[in-house]
Amino acid sequence: MKIGVLKEVKVMENRVCMIPTGVATMVANRHQVLVETGAGAGAGFADDEYRAAGATIVETPGEVYGACDMIMHVKEPQPSEYESIRENQIVFTYLHLAADERQTRALITARSVNIAYETIEKKNGSLPLLVPMSEVAGRMATQVGARCLEMPQGGRGVLLGGVKGVAPATVVVIGGGVVGYNAAKMACGLGALVYILDTNLERLAYLDDIMPANCLPVMSNPALLREYVTKADLVIGAVLIPGAKAPKLITRDMLPAMKDGSVIVDVAIDQGGCAETSKPTTHADPTFVVDGVVHYCVTNMPGAVARTSTIALTNATLPYALEIANKGWKKAMQENEEIKKGANVIHGAVTYQAVAEAFELAY
Ligand code: NAD
Repeated sequence: MKIGVLKEVKVMENRVCMIPTGVATMVANRHQVLVETGAGAGAGFADDEYRAAGATIVETPGEVYGACDMIMHVKEPQPSEYESIRENQIVFTYLHLAADERQTRALITARSVNIAYETIEKKNGSLPLLVPMSEVAGRMATQVGARCLEMPQGGRGVLLGGVKGVAPATVVVIGGGVVGYNAAKMACGLGALVYILDTNLERLAYLDDIMPANCLPVMSNPALLREYVTKADLVIGAVLIPGAKAPKLITRDMLPAMKDGSVIVDVAIDQGGCAETSKPTTHADPTFVVDGVVHYCVTNMPGAVARTSTIALTNATLPYALEIANKGWKKAMQENEEIKKGANVIHGAVTYQAVAEAFELAY
């Protein structure tokens, strides 16, 4: 199969969908890989590294779309690309169609085979191509939170781990899923006193088993949440209710009771945020202050560590891409239920229920 690696066109997106070692794996399986020039530059992978791995470098996205059986991206195709997608061409990338009617209709018109990273699903319900980015965002949340606590950033001047004879910071993580666990793990490693609040008892029991002694998982309820948030130096918002907006757990009236110069890193901002006072920010201008509380609400946190994010993402996507390339999409979907769940729009028909429901389309 001919596989196309496109350069991202979305603003400030530095990740790339395949790294040179991925190209080498594809080539070893007798596939041909076309890489748009500069595709890996943002994540630190040069054209020459792709060439050495066996790829052919081409100058334009048009050449990739024109020649390849399967095209790969990180973000969804942008409107400037819709016309280039061909009938029967496999499009394998994050699509997020349920939030994007224009793209859904463009892919229906293109009659391509559209497989979304985000709906590939394991038997246990986990989403293996979303997990790596949650891991990155979780680990980064503690890192940026620690920085925001420094005085030049408006923080209260507290070092996360304290020093000998000085108490460490108190970190409250709301939501103990993939983001929350990774954030807590980093905060524990730095020596902070960490509380994880969650409403899922089984998850709390698991966290209790695996986390170190400076981490305390706590069953959350509104009164306890208020108590913990108001004693925190750093609050990390990491809740998720699948398919819904994040619940507003940190209400406006809690802020005056919080410590002056404390910090909220609202990772759940891509689902609307779990603090009433959160609003989306960018890496260029990541923070703002409300009632003396520093808010960090960047919607695409992994973008700031594009190299790590790229390697983590491609570690997860490559086995699926290889299976699709080796077997063809039909056989891959027949034999692998996880890939079948990734099917969103095939030959003009919507094949993913949530997308059909979002725009009242036939399913
Ligand atoms: P997850 O499903 O693994 O974990 C969510 C956790 O929240 C679960 O353990 C659940 O029990 C808990 N929860 C639900 N309601 C709760 C409540 N009322 N109180 C306390 N806990 C509650 O999800 P995840 O992968 O960890 O993602 C968390 C959030 O981070 C999502 O909104 C996701 O979209 C977001 N995210 C943001 C970025 C970014 O760049 N900003 C990157 C990755 C993920």
